[in-house]
Amino acid sequence: MALLKRILVTGGAGFLGSHLCERLLAQGHDVICLDNFFTSQKQNVSHLLGKPNFELIRHDITLPTWLEVDEIYNLACPAAPGHYQYNPIKTMKTSVLGAIHVLGMAKRCGAKVFQASTSEVYGDPQVHPQPESYRGSVNPIGPRACYDEGKRAAETLFMDYHRRNGVAIRIARIFNTYGPRMHPYDGRVISNFLRQALRGEDLTLFGDGSQTRSFCYRDDMIEGILRMMGAPADLPGPVNLGNPEEFTIRQLAELVLELTGSQSKLAWKPLPADDPAQRRPDITLAAERLGWRPVVALREGLERTINWFRSIDVSDYRPPTPNY
Ligand code: NAD
Ligand code: UDP
Repeated sequence: MALLKRILVTGGAGFLGSHLCERLLAQGHDVICLDNFFTSQKQNVSHLLGKPNFELIRHDITLPTWLEVDEIYNLACPAAPGHYQYNPIKTMKTSVLGAIHVLGMAKRCGAKVFQASTSEVYGDPQVHPQPESYRGSVNPIGPRACYDEGKRAAETLFMDYHRRNGVAIRIARIFNTYGPRMHPYDGRVISNFLRQALRGEDLTLFGDGSQTRSFCYRDDMIEGILRMMGAPADLPGPVNLGNPEEFTIRQLAELVLELTGSQSKLAWKPLPADDPAQRRPDITLAAERLGWRPVVALREGLERTINWFRSIDVSDYRPPTPNY
């Protein structure tokens, strides 16, 4: 019983946050889920509401909050480009003020705090694959900057609270992650392609489809996040978490068509500004220090995600922004 903790998950009603809450509850911990529901809905956690060790707080992390906790997972932030670009100033506030607020809480409580950082800190990378030592190539004034620079500033705050105040921190740089419960209208490539393929609509392929991404299945990512929180004290991070299998977006579109059996066609659309040309994590550090590497291949993860997309009624979901 002594090992059970009171744990705050900010953004806990989101795609990754809700699964993280489930895993922590299953381990017996007291879980406080804090969310403003900008890009999620209560139904992601409604099945958890009756559990005696689960609490849900509607709150915006840009405002301070006062809780007593042992650990904090800071996931609150819109993650999909169409979501974080909807109100870029709010996105920056969420990253920066959110980091300040969870770090202040961690300092006061002596809590350990995990930051969900991102591969976007590498921008449109000139080094491939990306190791943690690469400092990135971010356009600080482009449409993705509110997210990229917000997450970079959050990493800076985490390191400074760690060095100056001795706060126990863990930073993971999360690469593209997908799976059941991702918002069908988040505008991310996998949700778009699956929604479109299952409805027989054209698959919107941005640019010539030669840009690459490396997709990690949700369960692998949650395992990586938990291992990172449990990492030795000399590993504050950042540590890359992602699946190093790399695909072009065109290959992804073709795989989606094959697995769904859809007759949809490809519709070519302009490439958005600052869209990274390539992305693949170097996960040597996670493999060596956390004993972690993904086990779910894209084909298998997509099959599970397709089954979930078939099981939901998309009309139950409200697009959070018009950008999907
Ligand atoms: P998501 O949008 O499903 O979850 C984010 C959650 O944060 C949502 O529930 C949203 O309502 C909440 N939120 C947003 N702003 C808030 C605020 N101001 N106050 C309180 N809650 C707020 O996205 P996700 O994919 O689950 O991502 C979770 C975290 O992981 C994010 O921090 C994201 O940047 C990071 N991440 C995700 C990916 C990915 O591919 N899924 C990749 C890199 C990093
Ligand atoms: N993309 C696409 N069609 C879509 C949505 C996205 O071709 O309908 C492309 C997008 O231009 C990018 C890649 O898919 O090159 C991944 O986009 P996503 O928004 O999922 O994530 P991110 O760019 O943040 O990695």
